[in-house]
Amino acid sequence: MRIAVIGAAGRMGRLLLGEVLAAEDLELVAACDRAESGLIGTPAGALVGRQGGVPLSAVSAEALAAAEVVVDFSLPDGLAATLDALGGQALVTGTTGLPAALAERLTDRAGVAPVVAAANFSTGVTLLLDLVERAAHALPDADVEIVETHHRLKQDAPSGTALALGEAVADGRAVHLAEVAVHGRSGHTGVRPAGEVGFHALRGGDVVGEHQVWLIAQGERLSLGHVAHSRLTFVMGALRAARWVSGRAPGRYAMRDVLGL
Ligand code: NAD
Repeated sequence: MRIAVIGAAGRMGRLLLGEVLAAEDLELVAACDRAESGLIGTPAGALVGRQGGVPLSAVSAEALAAAEVVVDFSLPDGLAATLDALGGQALVTGTTGLPAALAERLTDRAGVAPVVAAANFSTGVTLLLDLVERAAHALPDADVEIVETHHRLKQDAPSGTALALGEAVADGRAVHLAEVAVHGRSGHTGVRPAGEVGFHALRGGDVVGEHQVWLIAQGERLSLGHVAHSRLTFVMGALRAARWVSGRAPGRYAMRDVLGL
């Protein structure tokens, strides 16, 4: 399968390059990053200590033309550039922190070609989303608090995964997340309103990603959580999604679809 990687010089991008170059069934046809990057023109292999690979280029329709699947782990403006450059290719994207207008463009894109978009490509988190939805439904009166921890370089908060977990709670209770979410607390907050979903973002060091969902009731507390030890879990999930989505009908797919949950 012919694959293009966007955000190729980033943390996720380099891991993707390494796995794509090592896989016998995948051919790297484009590796793209910012036009201003000093690495433009560098062979993709050199970014990951391997031989060969296409030279790193800016995102353009020409660069992506040969790809069957485009895998984007960049930043919101990188995803916007990818959407501008796409033809009929399938898209797998894990980029988070999307402004509403960009999220809408992604939905529009799913009308013309297949898209797998997930805030977290790990199998464990995909399962966690299911468990949290069920728990929130089964414990309708429990106070829900979502705590996430990431490395100090992360640019958006709360994490896309924390928001997806909040959506799972809202789905389980048939409410709209925007109407019940509260982001951090300080000052004279008053008594905690029933139904509120609290989000708390911790940042520091090199933490790959931790998410904890607390469902706190009278007399008991259920805690469901996930710890990513390595970014490779996201990379393997994204490549599983790329292999799965190739040749599918247009539509918006989630990791739950890829895993058949
Ligand atoms: P990073 O900052 O290390 O890498 C981002 C890369 O994108 C950089 O090389 C940057 O130059 C490039 N980029 C930015 N704008 C661009 C543009 N306009 N055109 C081309 N390239 C551009 O970040 P990262 O840790 O690799 O994470 C990337 C994204 O993936 C973030 O949004 C992060 O939250 C998300 N992420 C998602 C998952 C998941 O499973 N869904 C897992 C990890 C990270």
